[in-house]
Amino acid sequence: MISQYVFGPVPSRRFGRSLGVNPLPRKTCNYSCIYCQLGRTPKLRTERKEFYPAETVVEGVRKAVERADEAIDYITFMGDGEPTLAANLGEMAEGVRTFWDGKMALITNGSLFYDEDVRRDAEHFDVVSPTVSAGDERTYRLIHRPPRSLSFEKVFEGLRLLKEWIPGKVWAEMMLVGGVNDSLASLLSIRKVVREIGPDRLYVTVPTRPPAEAWALPPSKESLRRVFDLFPEARDLTEPEEGPFLRNEEEREAEIVQIARNHPLREDQAFELLAMPFGLEGARDSLARMVQDGKLISVQFEGRTFFQAPADKKIRKR
Ligand code: SF4
Repeated sequence: MISQYVFGPVPSRRFGRSLGVNPLPRKTCNYSCIYCQLGRTPKLRTERKEFYPAETVVEGVRKAVERADEAIDYITFMGDGEPTLAANLGEMAEGVRTFWDGKMALITNGSLFYDEDVRRDAEHFDVVSPTVSAGDERTYRLIHRPPRSLSFEKVFEGLRLLKEWIPGKVWAEMMLVGGVNDSLASLLSIRKVVREIGPDRLYVTVPTRPPAEAWALPPSKESLRRVFDLFPEARDLTEPEEGPFLRNEEEREAEIVQIARNHPLREDQAFELLAMPFGLEGARDSLARMVQDGKLISVQFEGRTFFQAPADKKIRKR
């Protein structure tokens, strides 16, 4: 049985084998980041709301944990958008805690922590991983394209409060896009902000999947070298993740579509997944059929082929 709320386990560069949880509908977000692997946000959502009943999502997670045939390192709330927009995020996390005593992570754009309710929701997680990719208003608006109600200062203050609220649990992620936020001036202003927030870990990442804007490309190798000189504490996440995305052979095609909704698959990853049950020829046929049926679309990025789910695709149970 496929749950629309849960996907994976998938390999995560930060969280090992990670079971992903979607607490809200596809592309529900208050940002429209130029590098977003889910495409542009059709309409920015600024208010929090209960999109799905907490108990339904929690039940989906419980079933996924029960049927997983491998160890799960983290249950990771991330969503097909910004998970803190789900007003019942804390309730969902509490529900998962009733049967899961492993680690839980929250991947977030970090925009709403000025709101105390959102900081309270964050308390349920072992790790909260917000984005810190700008050190000034202009770059913030250029890279994230937020609504007018959000400003760089408001978001930055929220992140400072978050660090005080849950010390020891904040792993910031800095997404760098060539020609947008990788100049020396940009990096120095980001460094100032990072120093003031004081995250417990800092990761550097770059677009590795087809972005919302075709021009949102990774910085040059030279530029990345400068980044690691300026941020010697940073951990390098600029290489694509390794490892199988899926091991469960049941309903494999449907699960691949579910993963591709959130996480576009490189061609080699899709082949690897399908070759296990179907063999190489079968994998090729299966992939071609899924593209032909409109379950997946194929996209080129940086000389590689990726497969992603069409924006309005509903998951079909087989
Ligand atoms: S990258 Fe995250 S925060 Fe940015 S638009 Fe996509 S879902 Fe929203």
